[in-house]
Amino acid sequence: MVHITLKIFVFLLGSVIGSFLNVCIFRIPREKSIIHPPSFCPQCEKPIKFYDNIPIVSYVLLKGRCRSCGVKIPFRYPFVEFITALLFLILYMQFGLSFEWFVNIFFLCLLIIISFIDLDFKIIPDILSIGGLGAGLFFSFFRPLFKHLEPVIRIQDAFLGVVIGGGVLFAIAFIYQFFTKKEGMGGGDIKLLAMIGSFCGIRGVIFSLLAGSLFGTIVGIPLMIAKGGDTKYAIPFGPFLSLGALLFILKGDMLIGLFLNFLRV
Ligand SMILES: [Zn+2]
Repeated sequence: MVHITLKIFVFLLGSVIGSFLNVCIFRIPREKSIIHPPSFCPQCEKPIKFYDNIPIVSYVLLKGRCRSCGVKIPFRYPFVEFITALLFLILYMQFGLSFEWFVNIFFLCLLIIISFIDLDFKIIPDILSIGGLGAGLFFSFFRPLFKHLEPVIRIQDAFLGVVIGGGVLFAIAFIYQFFTKKEGMGGGDIKLLAMIGSFCGIRGVIFSLLAGSLFGTIVGIPLMIAKGGDTKYAIPFGPFLSLGALLFILKGDMLIGLFLNFLRV
């Protein structure tokens, strides 16, 4: 009973944080404060009453429209709230209520904000990637202090992750640019991968890059064909790198084990 109650609490907490992530996704690229003013409708600019601001539930009750002006609320809002809540719950089941849970939740929240800003604006603000990298390094000092079943990222792993993550993409981008005289990978992606390294270490950063490239190819090629072969800036890479990092946190060890086993036979 206590267990179920705690799970529900973690899910609800996640949906509230998800609601805050929506605010971040909207305001950070527009260089507005994420604290003030409180939520308002972007159409009629009327403040949203607290009872209309309940994650997921309000969207359903309001049938996806603003109470004041009736403008459609993008489906993305309840979607972000829901996936955040779900990730809170899944990571709770994986890590329990622990420091490791907190660090990974913090990391995934950053990735959610980054992914949607990248989808909207094709940019990754430095405050998120470089700021996140700083946080990842900072957390790595403390992660080994707590007892865990799984090996955790120590400070040396985090540093190597940053150097390799940032370095590999930088080298690829540099070589690509040198030979084609065109800008391929954006600097934002390089800083994002370095940030992923600070949270996931060297194995995680390589995994995220490979898995992200695979996801990007699976989604990107049909999209490119549909759009008539225009490869430049067709789709942002950030969301795919983020998906790769998510997969690493959830199932990385198992998948790497499977892959190494596969190579051996
Ligand atoms: Zn409105």
